[in-house]
Amino acid sequence: MPAKGAQRREQRAPTVNGSGAATPRSVTADVLVIGAGVIGLAIAWRAAQRGMRVVIADPDPGSGATHAAAGMLTPVAEAAYAERELFDFGSASLRRYPQFAAELTEATGLPTGFRQTGTLQVAHDVDDMAALHEHALLRESFGAQTERLTGRECRAAEPMLGPVCGGLLVSDDASVDPRLLTTALLAAARAAGATHLRQRARRLLAGDSAAGAELDEGTTVAAGQVVLCAGWASAAIEGVPAEAAPRLRPVKGQILRLRPTAATRAASPSPSFLNRTLRGLVQGSSVYLVPRQDGEVVVGATQEELGADTTVTAGGVWQLLRDARALVPGITELEFAEAAAGLRPGTPDNAPLLGPSALPGLVLATGHFRAGVLLAPLTADLIADLLVTGILPAAAAAFSARRLAAQPFEHQDAAPSWR
Ligand SMILES: Cc1cc2nc3c(=O)[nH]c(=O)nc-3n(C[C@H](O)[C@H](O)[C@H](O)COP(=O)(O)OP(=O)(O)OC[C@H]3O[C@@H](n4cnc5c(N)ncnc54)[C@H](O)[C@@H]3O)c2cc1C
Repeated sequence: MPAKGAQRREQRAPTVNGSGAATPRSVTADVLVIGAGVIGLAIAWRAAQRGMRVVIADPDPGSGATHAAAGMLTPVAEAAYAERELFDFGSASLRRYPQFAAELTEATGLPTGFRQTGTLQVAHDVDDMAALHEHALLRESFGAQTERLTGRECRAAEPMLGPVCGGLLVSDDASVDPRLLTTALLAAARAAGATHLRQRARRLLAGDSAAGAELDEGTTVAAGQVVLCAGWASAAIEGVPAEAAPRLRPVKGQILRLRPTAATRAASPSPSFLNRTLRGLVQGSSVYLVPRQDGEVVVGATQEELGADTTVTAGGVWQLLRDARALVPGITELEFAEAAAGLRPGTPDNAPLLGPSALPGLVLATGHFRAGVLLAPLTADLIADLLVTGILPAAAAAFSARRLAAQPFEHQDAAPSWR
């Protein structure tokens, strides 16, 4: 497919939302991006930078899983058996983050909260230490650099830690604030010329190929290429032929935000409660604490297969606080600022769906499950390449959107019922 858009920049659709202007009944674009989470916004930004006329449809940008996400950029700590390709993909995406975040801030003047301070993964008891040891072997088999620390060394690195048996230190790991990131991405996409329509895509327009979409308030977007990145709800857009529809299930995650109080600020001159992301195993249960520059500490997260349920439960909050306190007793001094739940877009094999679907012109970029924030820079570059050249780069081959098409899927009942 030839490069589209660069020669037609002057026909760009106006920015109609957020500027107070009326929404037109019909808009034409090279690319319609459905969904403005971290994935859709990053793709829209990169595609607009490459001269494509991009329209983004989303009634509430950044409100999906991205809003709940902790923003850990930790491919090594997330490494799992049989997920070598995902580990490599995550590591490659992490390598792009410093430039990605710097470019965003340069383009918009907005912060992203990006920090490359590393991860310390600790074990609470000897059984947890045995599990961590197994994980160290896995990481090492993937070629990852991990430093093994004794309990005492862990406490020297993180003075707020309670007693632990030992840990693993990864110094390249990073974190970002997903809420700041989506605000910056939306601003950058607009600055690069993308149009955001604050409407939900109701129905895909398609014959032999995708032709755009009809939005909730009656606007029609005509586009030769449509990128479906509406998180777990990507499975619910009308008009998508069954063979092209992404196979997704929502995986609930509860997560907490704690902040320093006046008393804790007075007691410590540094706003940072922890020096780096802390992940822990507490009697087999996983928990993490992600410190932000302003002193906020994000504590996450549950992983629950409950369909599209976003109830924050007493049990979820209790479990997170219990395990976080077992590692860092001082967290009980912090203000309880927020408890939230989000729905991760999970595929049957827990890896993303990237690239052309069975319907020509319909591109999938969804299913990033636990790591969409981490995977956004690389996903965006690869999908922008596809949109401009018609060729999906080899780096995305393992995550082909069509790889699961022939397999049965047990989670269709998890599709959202809202319209
Ligand atoms: C508790 C929790 C913690 C997490 N922590 C991390 C982490 O530390 N690091 C990490 O990398 N990942 C993390 N994740 C995973 C990460 O949040 C997701 O993988 C990522 O946000 C997926 O991004 P997305 O853009 O695909 O989807 P979403 O963020 O869900 O965005 C989808 C967007 O589509 C819009 N939409 C839905 N339907 C339509 C429609 N019909 N028309 C138009 N728009 C529509 C929604 O409004 C939303 O804005 C976490 C997730 C959770 C729940």
